[in-house]
Amino acid sequence: MSRLLVIGCGGVAQVAIQKCCQNSGTFTELMIASRTESKCTALKEKLEAAGTPVKLSTARVDADDVEELEALIREYKPDAVLNVALPYQDLTIMDACLECGVDYIDTANYEPEDTDDPEWRAIYEKRCAEKGFSAYFDYSWQWAYHEKFQQAGLTALLGTGFDPGVTSVFTAYAAKHYFDEIDTIDILDCNGGDHGYPFATNFNPEINLREVSAPGSYMENGKWIETKPMEIKRVYNFPEVGEKDMYLLHHEEIEALGRNFPGVKRIRFFMTFGQSYLTHMKCLENVGMLSTSPVSFQGQEIVPIQFLKALLPDPASLGPRTVGKTNIGCIFTGRKDGKERKIYIYNVCDHQECYKELGSQAISYTTGVPAMIGTALVVNGVWKKPGVFTTDEFDPDPYMDMLNQYGLPWVVDEDPQLVD
Ligand code: NDP
Repeated sequence: MSRLLVIGCGGVAQVAIQKCCQNSGTFTELMIASRTESKCTALKEKLEAAGTPVKLSTARVDADDVEELEALIREYKPDAVLNVALPYQDLTIMDACLECGVDYIDTANYEPEDTDDPEWRAIYEKRCAEKGFSAYFDYSWQWAYHEKFQQAGLTALLGTGFDPGVTSVFTAYAAKHYFDEIDTIDILDCNGGDHGYPFATNFNPEINLREVSAPGSYMENGKWIETKPMEIKRVYNFPEVGEKDMYLLHHEEIEALGRNFPGVKRIRFFMTFGQSYLTHMKCLENVGMLSTSPVSFQGQEIVPIQFLKALLPDPASLGPRTVGKTNIGCIFTGRKDGKERKIYIYNVCDHQECYKELGSQAISYTTGVPAMIGTALVVNGVWKKPGVFTTDEFDPDPYMDMLNQYGLPWVVDEDPQLVD
């Protein structure tokens, strides 16, 4: 029995909310609050028409505004807030949760909307020099809230999507059941889906394009090694998808896993991209369309990447068109009982099956399901401890069971192909 406030009503939120309604024993009351309230009411009406037993309500909120958030939380009195808006809102929502005494859950770590802000930039440049990677997002901003959440007796669960989220739970599961020592972790994110557009992104275009156009990086013996964007390419034969080109990217779970599993010698992240996607992205980057700095156009200030977002298909609309499968998982090498071991834990998800069940494509599905699972474990008290944590810092077993139960079954391959 719990009361949940969900902030955001985009592709990921729509899956997470529908999955909360499938888990109505845990989520008895739920408020959907976002910038555009009409999207919230449309989803509420869809769920009510389908006969959900969950008591739903909606609100409009600007999650950049802490006072507005606090007023909403005080009025609705939720047990927890699930943030599935954008990473830009992580800190304002954490502040409001602290102020009102409620638990906080999200799927992506903080990054600023305005990367030209001089105050932010000074901290960022210091961090780049100290840590050795230059992605705009990192955990330092949210880890800095650890003591405040600890003192308030509240839980903040960070990054409970698929990657990060499930991939970190896979690591905790491998460490608990399969290895005495893990030497290497390769996280592989393969989207074998085809939406038929020459170019579109599977989740928020601004966040997605920032991530993939940034330099890559990986961790070796506790140190970051940075590469040029898309510099390291491998080909991998993914179960149920086939052979795909994949590229090494910086990704946030590397930072958390490097901190929480310090004995691991190397952690890398690879994502698959087709040639058409890369060619479009390079061209857009070369003409300045990926820039986050405002430009003046006919007397108006516009941010090129936000304008591009307005031109691209809404990721939430890709569902009916997308066919094929995703395969996301982790390959681990190391030792158990003195013997060398390698395993690959992965999930395969079919875009059309997701669409039939919830009206979404598999990228939103594979993020929204774990968002519901992490939230359920926090509100049920199974994953409740004071402080700020990532998903690898809890017992993985109940989460792994719920993945099987809620549509993301996983496989352990004990003789996988390794990535060189
Ligand atoms: P969308 O752009 O589809 O949805 C974002 C939602 O947040 C929209 O409903 C938007 O409102 C709302 N929103 C944005 N700004 C505000 C604001 N200031 N106040 C209130 N609401 C706001 O994004 P996705 O659903 O694709 O992504 C959601 C989150 O999931 C992101 O943080 C993304 O990084 C993360 N993600 C995580 C993954 C993982 O595996 N861990 C994978 C994929 C995504 P409006 O409708 O008005 O635009």
